[in-house]
Amino acid sequence: NEFVKHSVVIVGYGGMGSYHAKLIKDNGRLAVVGTYDTDARRGEASEKEGYPAYPSYDAVLNDPAVETILIATPNDVHKELAVRAFAAGKHVICEKPVTMSVEDFKEMTAAAERANRVLMVHQNRRWDEDFLIIKQMYEQKTIGELFQIESRVHGANGIPGDWRHLEVHGGGMLLDWGVHLLDQLVFMVDSKITSVSSRLSFILGDDVDDGFEALLQFENGLSARVEVGTTNFITLPRWYVKGTEGTGMIEDWSMVGRIVTRNREVEHVEPKPIQAGVGLTKTMAPPSESATLTGALPEPFRQPSSFYDNYVSVLEGTGNPIVKNDEVLRVLNLIEAIFRSARGGETVKNFDFY
Ligand code: NAD
Repeated sequence: NEFVKHSVVIVGYGGMGSYHAKLIKDNGRLAVVGTYDTDARRGEASEKEGYPAYPSYDAVLNDPAVETILIATPNDVHKELAVRAFAAGKHVICEKPVTMSVEDFKEMTAAAERANRVLMVHQNRRWDEDFLIIKQMYEQKTIGELFQIESRVHGANGIPGDWRHLEVHGGGMLLDWGVHLLDQLVFMVDSKITSVSSRLSFILGDDVDDGFEALLQFENGLSARVEVGTTNFITLPRWYVKGTEGTGMIEDWSMVGRIVTRNREVEHVEPKPIQAGVGLTKTMAPPSESATLTGALPEPFRQPSSFYDNYVSVLEGTGNPIVKNDEVLRVLNLIEAIFRSARGGETVKNFDFY
């Protein structure tokens, strides 16, 4: 390999940390040179995979061979670990949600700037194919101008049985899945959010939300409903979007979906009333077969590079980050507005953060 490999130490070698190690193995420009986890059993698991386990975080910070620290611990310790990494002259890749508050994130970016080091947040779902199909529809106006987007993930397993249950560790579904769905929207829609109204759910009796619903209004007329549920034994589609010319739907992660558009070739025919329930309706009668066209989902928008390749280009000063810190900040502000709206039972309209 003619390129220098950039060294990475994974801090927090749990579910996601070990997944990063697998993904980075396939990337020619980064190399995992070790891990650190407060749980010794995770250190052993790491050594079994061939990644030496550092005995302490200080040992990682003091090792001049370490260029980047990848933080994949529970959410409450991201900030402290990152600030110490910058002070030691390391670059940081941080898992989402980068921090639990706007204030903490500002402290983190200030520390990165002071040290002139890179901070990039792993908002990996910007690379999800389902999202990239919707982004393509939004940009190419495949079903006309999109004016309503419903983005949801539904599960029936409750909150996984670990730190995600606990407020002190930054648990709850708004910070966990919510941050992904909101990040996708903020990345895709280049317009200010003018109002937010939301509800958190506490069906499982945890001290954190087991799901939420948020309604967002954008200045350009688009409205979005973002929903996460962990008690949905019947799931609604991952995406349901409406445009001025039609409707689109993506069912699930396997990209089952379709778009249905108005057939411009056919003259409008008044629908015939149908029997619906115990009544008659013209309004809800299905359009005649010739009045609409059913098509396949468009090809997804192509991200210019993978997350890791993009990180390397930022490190080497040859590229701009796909996940920008000002976007991450907007999402954290939005999350705080969603919490405010849910707790106060009101619509939040004062956005001084865009
Ligand atoms: P996990 O519980 O499986 O792993 C966390 C690990 O961190 C554990 O092994 C724990 O012992 C270790 N740890 C705790 N405190 C530590 C400290 N101070 N120093 C070093 N190690 C410490 O959790 P997870 O599911 O892997 O989640 C970790 C992070 O990754 C979270 O921020 C989560 O939101 C994020 N995550 C992201 C994605 C994604 O798709 N981007 C998916 C899952 C999790």
